[in-house]
Amino acid sequence: MGDRVLPAASLATTDSSAALGLRCTDCARGFALEYLRGCPACGGLVFVEYDLDKAAALGVADGGDAGIWRWGALLPPTAPGNRITLGEGKTPLVDAPRLAERLGVREVFLKLEGVNPSGSMKDRASATTAAAAREFGFSRVGCVSSGNMGSSIANYAARAGLQAFVFSAAYASTTQITHMAAGTPELYVYDCPYHEMAEAIRPLVAEGLLFDAGSSPNPYNSEGQKTLAFEIVEQLGGRAPDVAVYPLGAADLFLAAARGFEQLAARGAIDAPPVPAAAQSSASASVVEALRAGRDYRPVAAGASIAGGVLVGDMGAKGRLALQTLRESGGLGAAVEDADILAWQTWLARHEGIWAGPTACVVLPALEQLAHSGAVGRGASIVAVLSETGLKSGADAERPPSIEPSTQALRALVDAG
Ligand SMILES: [Zn+2]
Repeated sequence: MGDRVLPAASLATTDSSAALGLRCTDCARGFALEYLRGCPACGGLVFVEYDLDKAAALGVADGGDAGIWRWGALLPPTAPGNRITLGEGKTPLVDAPRLAERLGVREVFLKLEGVNPSGSMKDRASATTAAAAREFGFSRVGCVSSGNMGSSIANYAARAGLQAFVFSAAYASTTQITHMAAGTPELYVYDCPYHEMAEAIRPLVAEGLLFDAGSSPNPYNSEGQKTLAFEIVEQLGGRAPDVAVYPLGAADLFLAAARGFEQLAARGAIDAPPVPAAAQSSASASVVEALRAGRDYRPVAAGASIAGGVLVGDMGAKGRLALQTLRESGGLGAAVEDADILAWQTWLARHEGIWAGPTACVVLPALEQLAHSGAVGRGASIVAVLSETGLKSGADAERPPSIEPSTQALRALVDAG
């Protein structure tokens, strides 16, 4: 039997977290730290609000807390025993001079999120999701996944002693399916568009049968992804880049990073947030198309793409908020083709030594477009978020022909190479 939402469950504020409550992005009403999945008054998105002076006073509680929990002052209040971690975060920020040269910009740093325990940035979300599920007394979590979220939440649920129900897109790679199936016996595959499956699971979440663990309106999920912004500033020695570019799928990472940079700017830790840039597949470019056309957000019918993580045709309220965030911050957007993603994926491996997945590599041809059009200036300092490892890619490799163990033949190959 599944568990039910506990009556009047809300997180108690603690000395180690500066969280004040939840705040609606549409009507600005405030709420206690309850398990809300949207504003009860207007249906808008709610996010955790913090006392930034208190957060500054608390500082970074490094040393005692592993993974993203060293940023605990700017995360939801969580009892020490519920701070679920697999050592996520502290991913490398790697200088990419050949990439900067090719783009014709001053510098590009690559944030290697594929180094996280399950191979993607989703682990930052899973840490706060599993923690919140425990805090609110759940024993089961559920999510709709395009491939990376499913394995991530399965791993973190296992760590937290929670049961994970994962509903994965059939287009997830064989490696991703294997990874998810290893993590949970409750793995199911769907063939419909992502948002239709997300709609189907909603009543189960509303009834309290499953804790909402996916890319969803649950404010506790994406909160962990905010730590990406904190790390970038830390790794750049206390400054923000001029431009930060992200793959845009359900917009959780994009919106979370924007909140993180805003919180740093609001307490004076950085001068200003970076200009955000959204990279989408041309098969599902709802936000980029609306940004270019100067019109309101509207869903699109997602086509097919090798970049499964950005195939979200209907982003709902998060699509509207991502568009609003871009407009208010002079943000940028670009939509890219599969052929360009693949070409850049190989180029990055051969010139910078980094093997990132297709969803991650969406940012590279996007940056190329933005640099060539002049939208990103030559003097720009850029951080590109590579959201996933390439080791989960599903594309079939072109196998070179087998060769004989003959030194003479090998010498001929080396001489010719
Ligand atoms: Zn509201």
